[in-house]
Amino acid sequence: MENNYISIRNLKKVYTSGSGIFSGGKHQLKAIDGVSLEIRKGKTLGLVGESGCGKSTIGRCLIRLTEPDSGEAIYQGIDIMKIKKSEFTPYRKKFQIIFQDPYSSLNPRMTVGDILKEIIKFHNPNKKKEIEDKCYKLLEVTGLNRNSINKYPHEFSGGQRQRIAIARALAVEPEFIVCDEPVSALDVSIQSQIINLLKDLQKEFGITYLFISHDLSVVKHISDDIAVMYLGKIMEFSEKEKLFSELYHPYTKSLLSSVPKPEPRNKSRAEALKGEIPSPLNIPSGCPFHTRCPQVIDICTELFPSKRGSDNHYAYCHLINDKTSGIK
Ligand code: ADP
Ligand code: MG
Repeated sequence: MENNYISIRNLKKVYTSGSGIFSGGKHQLKAIDGVSLEIRKGKTLGLVGESGCGKSTIGRCLIRLTEPDSGEAIYQGIDIMKIKKSEFTPYRKKFQIIFQDPYSSLNPRMTVGDILKEIIKFHNPNKKKEIEDKCYKLLEVTGLNRNSINKYPHEFSGGQRQRIAIARALAVEPEFIVCDEPVSALDVSIQSQIINLLKDLQKEFGITYLFISHDLSVVKHISDDIAVMYLGKIMEFSEKEKLFSELYHPYTKSLLSSVPKPEPRNKSRAEALKGEIPSPLNIPSGCPFHTRCPQVIDICTELFPSKRGSDNHYAYCHLINDKTSGIK
C-alpha cells in the first residue's frame, strides 16, 4: 500500500507465567502470534477485537513498552523492534501513547500547567515565555479552557481529562500516537467529541494513529483502515469502505452484528457472538475462531487458512474462494 509509515512483520509475543499443575511446565500465553500490518502515514489504523486478543500488546511493542519475542516493525528503513532500548530515545519523542484511563497516568498533585510544562521542558528546553505560550496553545487545540492551567486533574470530567492526556501527548509534537481504548471509559456523547478532536488534530498536524478499541462502531468512526484481531492473530484487514461494503470473515460479521443497533431492534451481543472467547492459554487448533464460527467446516479445525484477497482487503478464512470475493 502507498504511504507506508510503519510495516509490522510477523510480530510475536508469548507470556510465560506460573507452572502448569498438569503439564508440569510453565504456562505459555500467546498474546500476539505472527502479526503483520501496514500503518499508513497520516492515517488511522483501527485495531479491533474482543478483550484479551492482544491489541494492547501490539501497541505497547511498537513504542517498546513491551519487548516482542520476534518480528519486525520497519520505520524509515529501520527495524525499531531490534534497536537497543537506549537507542530508542529519539523515537520516544515521535511515538506517544494515550490510555483508556487518563486519571491513572496524570499526576494528581500537579496542575495541568505543570504537567504540560514538564514535558515541554524535558524535550525542548525553551525559554519560560515560550513554554507558557506552548502550554496555552496545547489547551486551545485540545479544546480546554485557558484557566485549566492552574487546575488539578480531579477537577475535570472524564472527557476533559482525556483532553489533558491528549494535550500532554501533543506537547512533544509526535508523529505517531497509539490510542489504546481512549474513549472506552467515556459516555457515548463524549466519545464522539474526543474522536472528533483526534480527527481534527490528525488533519492539522498530520499525525498517524494506531487506534485500539474492542468496539467496532467506535473504530469505524475514526479509521481509514481496520484490522480485526482474534486470539493473537489478524483475521481480516481492509480499507474502511471496502470492509463495510463487503465483509470477508465470519468473525468480523459477528463483531458487526454485536454493535448495538438503534432502538427498537437492539441486537444483543449474546445473539451475535455465541459462547465465551477461548483462553489464550489454550488456543484452538487450525483457525482459532472455529469453536465459535457459525460457518465452520472440517478443515478449519486443522489448518490456519492462508491469506486471501488483495493488499487493501484480505482475510484468513477457508470459506473465501479466491475466484469469488468474500464469503457467499
Ligand atoms: P487486549 O488489549 O486485546 O485486551 P492484551 O494485549 O492486553 O489484550 O493482552 C493479550 C493477552 O496477553 C491477554 O490474555 C492478557 O491477559 C495477556 N497479557 C497481557 N500482558 C501480560 C503480562 N504482562 N503478563 C502476562 N500476560 C499478559
Ligand atoms: Mg487492551
